[in-house]
Order: sequence, then C-alpha cells, then structure tokens
Amino acid sequence: DTIGANLLRTAAAFPDREALVDVPSGRRWTYRQLRADVDELARGLLARGVGKGDRVGIWAVNCPEWTLLQYATARIGAILVNINPSYRSHELAYVIDQAGVSLLVASRTHKSSDYRALAAEAAGRCPSLRSVHHIGDPSWDALLADPAGEDELEARAAELSCDDPINIQYTSGTTGFAKGATLSHHNILNNGYFVGETIGYDEHDRICLPVPFYHCFGMVMGNLAATSHGACVVIPAPSFDPAATLRAVQDERCTSLYGVPTMFIAELNLPDFAAYDLSTLRTGIMAGSPCPTEVMKRVVAEMHMAEVSICYGMTETSPVATQTRRDDDLERRTGTVGRVLPHLEVKVVDPATGATVPRGSSGELCTRGYSVMLGYWDDPGRTAEVVDPARWMHTGDLATMREDGCVQIVGRIKDMIIRGGENVYPREIEEFLHAHPKIADVQVVGVPDARYGEEILACVVPRDPADPPTRDEIAAHCEGRLAHYKIPRRVEVLDAFPMTVSGKVRKVELRERYGS
Ligand code: ATP
Ligand code: MG
Repeated sequence: DTIGANLLRTAAAFPDREALVDVPSGRRWTYRQLRADVDELARGLLARGVGKGDRVGIWAVNCPEWTLLQYATARIGAILVNINPSYRSHELAYVIDQAGVSLLVASRTHKSSDYRALAAEAAGRCPSLRSVHHIGDPSWDALLADPAGEDELEARAAELSCDDPINIQYTSGTTGFAKGATLSHHNILNNGYFVGETIGYDEHDRICLPVPFYHCFGMVMGNLAATSHGACVVIPAPSFDPAATLRAVQDERCTSLYGVPTMFIAELNLPDFAAYDLSTLRTGIMAGSPCPTEVMKRVVAEMHMAEVSICYGMTETSPVATQTRRDDDLERRTGTVGRVLPHLEVKVVDPATGATVPRGSSGELCTRGYSVMLGYWDDPGRTAEVVDPARWMHTGDLATMREDGCVQIVGRIKDMIIRGGENVYPREIEEFLHAHPKIADVQVVGVPDARYGEEILACVVPRDPADPPTRDEIAAHCEGRLAHYKIPRRVEVLDAFPMTVSGKVRKVELRERYGS
C-alpha cells in the first residue's frame, strides 16, 4: 500500500473510532473526519500547484495539522520535509535550500519563538520557496481555499507507487550535522506497521506521544503505527512537558506511552508523580538511547508498562531494526534491544574486514531489507559511505548478537574512547556511575590527552547542586570495581546536558567544551 491508501483502508474499517486527540486545544478527530480533513488539505495543496515529488516543508511543534499534512502530502505524492522546530532562520534557510522546498507549513508561535518573523527572515534568502503558511492564522486558511476537485485527487493518487520518495527526515544531529534521509511509502509504512504488530496494537489502543513528530519516533513509530492499526494518537502538548504527558495519559485513558529515557526520567521525578492514575497503560516504546536498568524497573513497576518495548534503529532505516517482544522478560528489556523485526536482516561485522563475527563478539551492526533508505537527499557520495553495494546499511553502532538472537548495543563507534590502547565503552562506565548516591545523571566522553591519546571525562549532573561529587569520591567509588584504565580521571559538574530535540545528549558538544 501507499500511505494514503492505507489511511483510506483504516478509515473504511473504523470510521467512528477516534483517530487523533489534541489535548491543548481539545480538538478530536474520528477516522472518518481525519480522512475528510486530510483530503481537503490534499486538494488544497493540489490547487496551490503542489504535485508528486514536490517538496513541502513542515517546521512545527506537535499539533494536529502536522499529522494532517503528513497524510495529505502522502495522498498526492509530495515529499514531506521534516524540519527541526528548534531551528532558527539560518538553519531553516539551509534545509529549505538543500531540499528545494517550495511550500512551507510552520507553527505560528511557541514559547518565546515567533515563527512568522523567523520564516520571513529565511524566506528572502530561498529562491525555491513560493509560499509560507502558518498554522492557526489566515495563511493556513489560504491553503484550503478553492481546492482541486475530488476527481483530480483520486487521479493523482492512482499514479503513485510504493517506492516513490515521500519523506525527507533528518537525523538527530547527535554526532554532528543532521543528514537528510530520503524515505519511500514502503520504507516507513511497513516499519510503522511492524512496530505496531510487535506491540499488538488494535483499534482500542490510545497512544500518548510526547516525542516530536518531526522525528521518526513520532511520525513513524507513533503516527504510522497507530493509523495502520486503527489506534488513536493523543498529543499531550506541543513540546515535551512531563506533567502534561502524565495528565494526558490519565485523562485520555492511554494504553501506550512513548519516550526517550530522559523523558521517562523526568516523568518519574515529578514531585506529584504518585498522584497520576496511570493504570490504563500496558505498553509503550522506549528508544533512541540506552536506558539505565533502574529507570526501566520503575517504568515497568510504577508506570504499569509491563510490556514496554525497546526499539533500536536509526532515521536511515525508517527507523526500527530490532525490537523486544511482548513476552520478553525484564532482563531482555534492560540488557538488550530485542530481536530483528520481521522481513529485515541484521548482522554484526568486523569493521576492518567486513566479515561477520561470531555470536557474543562485538562489531559494527549492519541491517538490510525494505527499511533501508533510498539515500541521503541529493548526496550519493555520503550514501555510498553507509549503504554498501549489497544494500547493507552500516549503522556506526557497535553491538553484539547473543545466542538467543537478541542484540546488545555496546555504543557508537564515534563515542568509543581509546585510552592508552585500551578500548573503553562510555556506556559501561555510565551505567556503573548511575548507582552513585550523589549522581543524578552522567555522561562519559573521551577528551584528547597528551600521554594516553584520550582521557576519560565524566560529566555529572549532581542530585544536590550544593553537594556535587568530587573527582576523588568518584575515583574511590570505582576503585577495585572497575579496571583502572576505565576510571574517570576528570570530572566536570553541569546543571544539564546539551540535548537534541529528539532528547539525546550531544556528546560531541561535551567533547568540544571540555576537550581543550
Ligand atoms: P546523527 O546521525 O545525526 O549523529 P543520531 O544518530 O542520533 O544523529 P537518529 O537517527 O535519531 O540520529 O538516531 C539513531 C541512533 O540512536 C543509532 O545509530 C544509535 O546510536 C542510537 N539508538 C537508537 N536506539 C537506541 C537504543 N535502543 N539503544 C541505544 N542506542 C540507540
Ligand atoms: Mg546517526
């Protein structure tokens, strides 16, 4: 199916089930209404001269119009370009230029940002851009004026193929510049569908999405997993707000909740956490970065998410490659990222030779199948660096495959520290330091060192800012329990880590800040 055809199928099967709820505005859509509004917007786009292959940018925080535009562009075969809502005019202009965006849909205001002023600033510098429409002001209504006819919409929809490019999604920019992955209907619809299958979604599920739609976590694992199973998406707030998230779970009786580990940590640490009724939850997805064991135990026990699913993947693979199953035990949920999804392959190779390593040994994780992107937009050179001629995607992540087929992520190749010839994996040290009573959160990075090549730096967010742990206390905590070369020789105390919008710590920034 194309994404549009899939939506029509679900709307026909469950016309009166709820499809979308926007908690901040109180607006609600059934599948019948969602289909009608998507088609209205698609016809509006056609009337503005947008057709198959044209790039439509979306630069917005989470809101229902984001979802409508996702499906409306898919209905007519336009390529949706997801633009990070925290970008400012310079970065916005860069993406518009790079992707050749001709029509931009944007938020109006959010917190202290005036998207109208920022877009106006960028627009002057972008020759490809023909019109800008802000959600909730007259320029949005103009998008719907004098729409093309239904016949024209159906005629255009009939010309689409599942392998057409439909979406340019940017990577999180955790390790450097964000890269634009070009994805087809087939790539992301199949992935959303199988993620939903693994969780066991049906038309009774209600999924609370505090993760950004602009990222694959929201638009594929959230929106596409929901609509391909007739489930409902609940938007708790335009951007992450832990209290609003738990209130939405309670008031909307959600069965599923998503987040990166840092989001779950923020929710669990709310002073009034115990006051929320989360008893309707059964499942959810945690993904994006490794989850500390202690956090996972609390999510399962205190948030009622006994079936919480761990997913591993990347934007370039639509995104999910491996996922835990419903009946996996806590050990698999905390120690692994589950097994490969149906119809995909994974292997672990020696990065130097490309040979598959034995089970239990670590190497670079590679994945192949329907999920691998068409390529980085307009960048065949970069694509060839990561997708080999046999169509294996080289993930840049170090992993091991266990005997039982479960994959363990050791860390990113770029984050690995080589200290005096020894390979050190930050995750192992972070997991260990999490147990220190004075440490609320910790990131370990390698910084240049004249003697050892790299030295180990622990960046610590203390539980009590007035009483941070000292370097000597941390060393004493590790002494005798970690090999000496893994013990952090440097400690920096921070209030918070530099983050991506998708909720990941930008280690690259920590290295730059403390590396000299
Ligand atoms: P960039 O490629 O721009 O540096 P990024 O790799 O963080 O950013 P994404 O595509 O959003 O951008 O994230 C994919 C990466 O996230 C994976 O390559 C992996 O390193 C990490 N990741 C995803 N899921 C997990 C998980 N469950 N456990 C550990 N790491 C994960
Ligand atoms: Mg990446």
